[in-house]
Amino acid sequence: MIKNLLLPRKLVLLLLASANTWNSCVQKVQKALLQSDVHAKSDKSPVTVADYGSQAVVSFVLQKELSSSPFSLVAEEDSGDLRKEDGQETLQRITKLVNETLANGGTASPLSDQDVLAAIDSGKSEGGSLGQHWVLDPIDGTKGFLRGDQYAIALGLLDEGKVVLGVLACPNLPLQSLACHDQHTIQGKAGCLFFAQVGTGTYMQSLDGSEPRKVNVSCTENPEEASFFESYEAAHSMHDLTSLIAKKLGVKAPPVRIDSQAKYGALSRGDGAIYMRFPHRGYREKIWDHAAGSVVVTEAGGVVTDAAGKPLDFSRGRYLDLDTGIIVTNQKLMPTLLNAVQESLKEKASSL
Ligand code: AMP
Ligand code: MG
Repeated sequence: MIKNLLLPRKLVLLLLASANTWNSCVQKVQKALLQSDVHAKSDKSPVTVADYGSQAVVSFVLQKELSSSPFSLVAEEDSGDLRKEDGQETLQRITKLVNETLANGGTASPLSDQDVLAAIDSGKSEGGSLGQHWVLDPIDGTKGFLRGDQYAIALGLLDEGKVVLGVLACPNLPLQSLACHDQHTIQGKAGCLFFAQVGTGTYMQSLDGSEPRKVNVSCTENPEEASFFESYEAAHSMHDLTSLIAKKLGVKAPPVRIDSQAKYGALSRGDGAIYMRFPHRGYREKIWDHAAGSVVVTEAGGVVTDAAGKPLDFSRGRYLDLDTGIIVTNQKLMPTLLNAVQESLKEKASSL
């Protein structure tokens, strides 16, 4: 049962408004990114002042708006490196960025470096199966962000272990379907915001505030007509395996490789019919990489499962402990996709 989930329209509107704020924040950074703004985390993945800044802004705004309820946020970044001596200059840049962003949104008094560190560290919650937890990836697809390609700001809400709300801001995703573009010449106006609340469907609007429109996943039943999404980064998903599965399904179109949960957004409006993700051995998926995206797709009529066909379980903490990979499509195609996935996994295992 969803308890106490009168997610008021006001809250959804607030999220839309703050998505715009984060968007202008990160776009400003993307245009003027300095070498010194990009750092390597302990797992060697990049983190930028925009990742930290976006997390501080979202965390600060959410806490301010939700001041009456207990606040729990599971978010990707922590302030460890910014508290070190050689992190001070970066911290000052982040604080400046955060204050500029909040000033645009009408927040009066500037935050100190300490306030920013505290806002970032509010994201340390472990989540779990009880109560409500916000789940944030402040910049999903940092590698895409650095390349000037796709990235997303992804915010979800868990209630008793289930995702009940998702907002996905995709600043570089064209408003027009990707199916209308050749992969290398994406043109036209970009900047999409998807939002979904459980039981009410998925809506998309432009980041600059067009009327929201309801979106639905593709209804194709024929895999030959389906195109599929996967990670741009081969290190994030096994392209050889997805190509084997696509061949088995008879998919004719080449894979559409884009970064971040923009894939879930694009799939929710029917730009393609399938998304497959098979990380290399040993990688553990994090809940903030899928919470918002999965509800955006399911509310648009899609299905999201692991490679064994089980729904994703967001109730186990910061990680999704799942079997092998994540597959996404419409309800009619799922049995065929699952079959092809399982056959291909068996073939791959027996060839090793
Ligand atoms: P995507 O652009 O869909 O590949 O997803 C980007 C996300 O992949 C990032 O936010 C990371 O959390 C996650 N990621 C980082 N390293 C890996 C990896 N080795 N395998 C799978 N996903 C990863
Ligand atoms: Mg991410």
